[in-house]
Amino acid sequence: MGVAVLKARLIESREIAPEVKHFVFDVPEVEQLPYLPGQFVSFSHEFGEKKVTRAYSTASAPEENRFELCLNRVQDGIFSPWLFTLEPGNTVDMKGPLGYFTWRYPASDSILVATGTGIAPFRGMLASYLEGGGDREVTLVYGVRYEGSLLYREEFEEMERRYSNFRFWPTLSRPDASWSGRTGHVQQHVIEALDERRDMDVYICGLKAMVDDVRARLKELGLDRRHIIFEKYD
Ligand SMILES: Cc1cc2nc3c(=O)[nH]c(=O)nc-3n(C[C@H](O)[C@H](O)[C@H](O)COP(=O)(O)OP(=O)(O)OC[C@H]3O[C@@H](n4cnc5c(N)ncnc54)[C@H](O)[C@@H]3O)c2cc1C
Repeated sequence: MGVAVLKARLIESREIAPEVKHFVFDVPEVEQLPYLPGQFVSFSHEFGEKKVTRAYSTASAPEENRFELCLNRVQDGIFSPWLFTLEPGNTVDMKGPLGYFTWRYPASDSILVATGTGIAPFRGMLASYLEGGGDREVTLVYGVRYEGSLLYREEFEEMERRYSNFRFWPTLSRPDASWSGRTGHVQQHVIEALDERRDMDVYICGLKAMVDDVRARLKELGLDRRHIIFEKYD
């Protein structure tokens, strides 16, 4: 038996950075949409004769029949520009949530590594873990080019104030003169966060080039691949 096709209905969307939108959907035909934070939905739509399917990570912790997404409009892309034109009440065919990019239990001290919209699954995973009383040390290393592209920055800063076991390490690859925080790519900061430890879990999410590079460096440092959990967007 295949996975059931459901209709996701857009409740609202808002631009949270240039070319990036946060979406809130619900699934009216069910009362609860159970999923694990970090899982993705599989959306489909027919463009002319052609059915196109794309995956999008949930950016929320489960709540009734709702889920949230965070995506950027890929220039000359097919699906993402179409999603950006949706109005509240419009629906999208969906399957899921699906996938295995979720917390490993028992949880270890962990490093979460994201670039761009790769932050999406971590928003839901962190909310559920920290609000649920998770007490392992968690460092979020988040890389974007410009300060204005740090998605959900205030939320992560608030989490850092509230939970002493959480550290938020944003880094900019193209900072302007007013930025006094971390700079450069995520790789160097992941290595700093890992330090001499080889018992931490490292979760990585974003485009293939970054994910593969971080994985390769962690392996070089001797981190066992069972500690490396990743999701590639392309
Ligand atoms: C498990 C999984 C989860 C995903 N979750 C998200 C998510 O939460 N948010 C999100 O924005 N995308 C996510 N993606 C990527 C998404 O599925 C699409 O690939 C993306 O929206 C581009 O589709 P498109 O039809 O618009 O472009 P296409 O016509 O398919 O063009 C693809 C091109 O876009 C590039 N690309 C793919 N994703 C991105 C991206 N996010 N940013 C920049 N370039 C990209 C590819 O390298 C490729 O060159 C996820 C992918 C997977 C496999």
